[in-house]
Amino acid sequence: MGNKSLKKLNNPLSSPEFQLNFLSNGVFATGELPAFQDRITETGKPFLYPKSLEILQINLGYMCNQVCAHCHVDAGPDRKEMMTRITLKKCLDLIESAPVKTLDLTGGAPEMHPDFRWFVSEAFKLGIEDFIVRSNLTILRANKKYYDLPEFFKAHNIHVISSLPFYKKEKTDRQRGSGVFVKSIEALQELNAVGYGIPKTGLQLDLVYNPSGAFLPGNQKALENDYKKALNEEFDILFNQLFAITNLPISRFLEYLIASENYDDYMKSLVEAFNPAALENVMCRNTLSIRWDGYLYDCDFNQMLDLKVANPIKHLDNFDLNSLQKRNIRISQHCYGCTAGSGSSCQGSVV
Ligand code: SF4
Ligand code: SF4
Repeated sequence: MGNKSLKKLNNPLSSPEFQLNFLSNGVFATGELPAFQDRITETGKPFLYPKSLEILQINLGYMCNQVCAHCHVDAGPDRKEMMTRITLKKCLDLIESAPVKTLDLTGGAPEMHPDFRWFVSEAFKLGIEDFIVRSNLTILRANKKYYDLPEFFKAHNIHVISSLPFYKKEKTDRQRGSGVFVKSIEALQELNAVGYGIPKTGLQLDLVYNPSGAFLPGNQKALENDYKKALNEEFDILFNQLFAITNLPISRFLEYLIASENYDDYMKSLVEAFNPAALENVMCRNTLSIRWDGYLYDCDFNQMLDLKVANPIKHLDNFDLNSLQKRNIRISQHCYGCTAGSGSSCQGSVV
């Protein structure tokens, strides 16, 4: 990407409007690469449609104790957006009435939400089959008030999914901040100590890998084997699965791609690796994402671009699953990140 593109780097670079506009133009404006919509049209259908709703992903807010380089949420300690208790109660009503198999709590660091424990306890009573909390690990060691979270997770049969960009200190700290690796290792040991990741306990602990730069993730299974070997040999740590996730060209990662002049090449590599089988299973097809203020999105990534669902019902206030199931999923060029290679979702490869 040359200077022409960099001239667009005026603030607010991180605004959803700027980012969506940049994605829609940029390298695609030259006609060099096909628009993602063409890939949908090639399937013989005009739009991407949802299948049955299985996963409800709730973003409790954007506050986080970390400021990771590639954060697609643009989260950090200074973010003030938080779901209110009124909205949390509406989420509980929805979980009770909608046939969701999986509840996925994310943020920011969801544990920093003042109502986090109350909400988890209430949602637990509703008997969710798979109750995920996305924990960044360091929060478990950030302050004494979080030290008992492994026990709390265990008491509520939480499925813990945590990012660990690599099994070595240097790469992890470069992406997530100085000292993150050591705290993450401590947190993983604490989780192991209460049974997480240990065979036959039923306490699921999964890790997430995402590339440290403008390249696609390697084979998920091979990476998992490398992680398991290294973490076990060096730190005596066990975990269940590793999810390899592609960095989507949005938010802080898009800013990085533009500033490092990697945007065009990265987009080309995503397009060249397009896999139609991944399109069949992208996560927006069985997921709904709820923003901290109750607005509804096809996925967490669309949430960051403020692409609300294409339906008259856009908010929890008048939730209507039948109507939402008939919507067209809103796509843009960032969707190539979900369909490259083995595909990518919040739970790793999709093919
Ligand atoms: S990537 Fe996760 S841990 Fe890092 S700043 Fe974003 S929300 Fe926080
Ligand atoms: S970013 Fe991925 S999950 Fe979201 S709408 Fe596009 S293909 Fe679907």
